[in-house]
Amino acid sequence: MDDATYGCPRSSSRPPSSATSSSSGGCSRGRWNDPRTASRRCPTDAGDGKKRILTGIRPTGPLHLGHYAGALENWVRLQGGHDCYFLIADYQVSDYAGDIARVREAVWTVALDWLAVGLDPERSAFVIESLVPEHAELALWLSWFLPLGMLQRNPTLKAEMEEFGRTSVPVAFFTYPVMQAANILLPRAHLVPVGEDQLPHVELTRELARRFNRQFREVFPEPEGLVGRVPRLVGIDGHAKMSKSRDNAIYLKDPPSVVTEKVRSMYTDPTRLRATDPGHIEGNPVFLYHEAFNPDRDEVADLKDRYRRGAVGDVEVKQKLAAALNALLDPIRERRAYFEARTGLVRDALAEGTSRARKAAGTTMALVRDALDLDYLERHRDDPSREA
Ligand code: ATP
Ligand code: MG
Repeated sequence: MDDATYGCPRSSSRPPSSATSSSSGGCSRGRWNDPRTASRRCPTDAGDGKKRILTGIRPTGPLHLGHYAGALENWVRLQGGHDCYFLIADYQVSDYAGDIARVREAVWTVALDWLAVGLDPERSAFVIESLVPEHAELALWLSWFLPLGMLQRNPTLKAEMEEFGRTSVPVAFFTYPVMQAANILLPRAHLVPVGEDQLPHVELTRELARRFNRQFREVFPEPEGLVGRVPRLVGIDGHAKMSKSRDNAIYLKDPPSVVTEKVRSMYTDPTRLRATDPGHIEGNPVFLYHEAFNPDRDEVADLKDRYRRGAVGDVEVKQKLAAALNALLDPIRERRAYFEARTGLVRDALAEGTSRARKAAGTTMALVRDALDLDYLERHRDDPSREA
């Protein structure tokens, strides 16, 4: 076992530091750690008054800038002050169900990307959904309390069903919002940091929690959605959402030359034919990305001004964007390479996080079973009538 740490390293085998993770407290615990940091332990169980977070990603491929700005950046920031469960939702891949090898491979890919952006498994649990059987059990119970019409009206699900583009949609695709509700309610999470497209699912989860609590007893908090800095990042093709499924993404692991090439080919103002034509900033993906990822505000303001006046070419605007993106991604790529060479650490992060989630799941399911009065066989264990 490599003695490196995820979060507060001291030796030469430490992971390259992440700008994002170091800003969020820098304290961690665990057997890989410098014992001198042990006294600065971050308490992570619910007993310490911290609010709980559950959020997740589907293991369908590498993560991209949309995940980063819409979700991951927020997760890294929040892990310092919350009890976090980050879930790899490998039940919710029915659009890839025919390619299970891809799904298994993507579990590692997602975990690597998480470590690369600075999520710290010594503070936050990395959880594989299907290895916590209680998810399936709770999802089945919850599905009793969800009217069909609520799923049929869910705008995200409706849009995704249309994008699915096949005549035969698996039942599990239609019911994945129920699985998400079970994911969120199982650790009795208070907060769900997600991209904007997931808010209808959080709303549905709140409704399910209310119904369950009202009908039986108060078991679940009503979780709140929390949208990231960029609620919905457009794709490089100008499509409304950067998405793994549409392959219109810049991935966190893309090498610099690939990023530069993708930016060069980006959709921009289609009405502008020459560098001297006045251009449109609004809705222009290149400027939306500058706005989201270029920390040099003066440069962005200058480019916008010159673009509007027809005093700058697309080439320069794109070159500067590629440079800003590569500066953001360089430390992420460096950390990714570090953990890619230490898959034992990735494996342990997943195993330990999943085991922590199972403990929390056990506590919640005891409350659920009690509320549903499921121990009736136990209660009749000593029923003397069998002897009659
Ligand atoms: P797919 O398009 O294949 O469904 P995805 O890219 O949407 O994949 P998910 O696993 O469904 O990935 O989403 C993980 C999290 O990232 C969610 O909180 C989602 O809202 C957020 N997210 C994904 N894409 C974007 C985006 N383009 N902008 C902002 N947030 C995003
Ligand atoms: Mg999605």
